[in-house]
Amino acid sequence: MSDLHESAALSARRLRTRTALLAVLAEYGALSRADLGRLTGLSRSAVSSAVADLRAEGAVTEQHAPSAVAAGRGRPAAVVALSRDTGLVLGLDLGHSHITAAVGTGEGTVLGEATAHLDIDDHPEQALDTAADLAAEAVRQAGCEPGGIGAAAAGLPAAMDLRTRTVRSPTVLAKWIGLDPAAELGRRLGIPVTVANDAEMGARGERALGAGRGFGDLIYVKASHGVGSGLVLGGQVYRGALGLAGEIGHIQLPGATNWCRCGNRGCLETVVSVQEVRRRLTHVLASADRGAVPAEIPPLAELGARPAAARVITDAGRTLGRVLADLVNCLNPAAIIIGGELGQAGAPLVAGVRESVDRYAQPAVAEAVEILPGALGVRAELHGALVTAAESRRSAA
Ligand SMILES: [Zn+2]
Repeated sequence: MSDLHESAALSARRLRTRTALLAVLAEYGALSRADLGRLTGLSRSAVSSAVADLRAEGAVTEQHAPSAVAAGRGRPAAVVALSRDTGLVLGLDLGHSHITAAVGTGEGTVLGEATAHLDIDDHPEQALDTAADLAAEAVRQAGCEPGGIGAAAAGLPAAMDLRTRTVRSPTVLAKWIGLDPAAELGRRLGIPVTVANDAEMGARGERALGAGRGFGDLIYVKASHGVGSGLVLGGQVYRGALGLAGEIGHIQLPGATNWCRCGNRGCLETVVSVQEVRRRLTHVLASADRGAVPAEIPPLAELGARPAAARVITDAGRTLGRVLADLVNCLNPAAIIIGGELGQAGAPLVAGVRESVDRYAQPAVAEAVEILPGALGVRAELHGALVTAAESRRSAA
């Protein structure tokens, strides 16, 4: 296993352990370590190391049970309990064809989650109603009272105008224009909701919990059906004057001529959207298999081992890197993190981005920037929403 895979497997296991512990604490209240082990089936050492982590984060407290002290039966057993200020929050990730709701903490623990697949672009009211239904299901799975959720945040695949809080772009989510999604969701959920562009949520997720930890200046790229970016500059999320910064998918590529959904020709996302890259992969894999069109393209993460497919992916990375090189010259970031569905392609994609940044950005800034695959995969936006909701809850407290 590579280091990257090893650490991903390790963090997945840690996340499961933490989730299991927090779930039984939410259900039963304060418990001894022995009871935690019995109820979760986890080993004593797994319980002990997870409790230590959760205590360090302030998510749980551990103290001697008062009743045991009063009873004077020797050394009283310590009990672990959820910290009172560990509020559970709700995160929503809305994509063009799915909605996911999760109940959890801003530290990466998810206690309940529900997803539905639907076309949100053409049916805003139905999408908002479905989001509320999924939220209720996630709350039920988490085993908490609806009143126990302090705040919510949602990522939307559209540019949001900060002044009006409405969806702004006339070509993406056209039927959402003029809607105030934060107010609409807030009315349905009965709690305050923060709404932001999905790439901003991805940037927040990776920065708090993933590959962006420790970087004060980073560009997060969400490369999926569209291509967008979330900017963190000087330790702060940067949204621009209207909240529309980061729309790198509509930067023109020299020589590209395909029509884009925005009405222009030759935009970056006409070349490196995940569906365009999959179309090219289908062609290449069919040629490699004597013309037989593959019924299904294997997951992008598995294609690096196939030279022809890896070349297509690296080529997409070079194109993306051509645009990012100009941003690197302009902003001098410490890291670029590639997420979204296309980001799942991993090493060959990152190699292409690296190549173009080294070729087109000034040597000193190119050398200064780390280019990394996202550590949270396609869940960066969902975790970013939980992080954002937790922050808004803390700042309201
Ligand atoms: Zn465009």
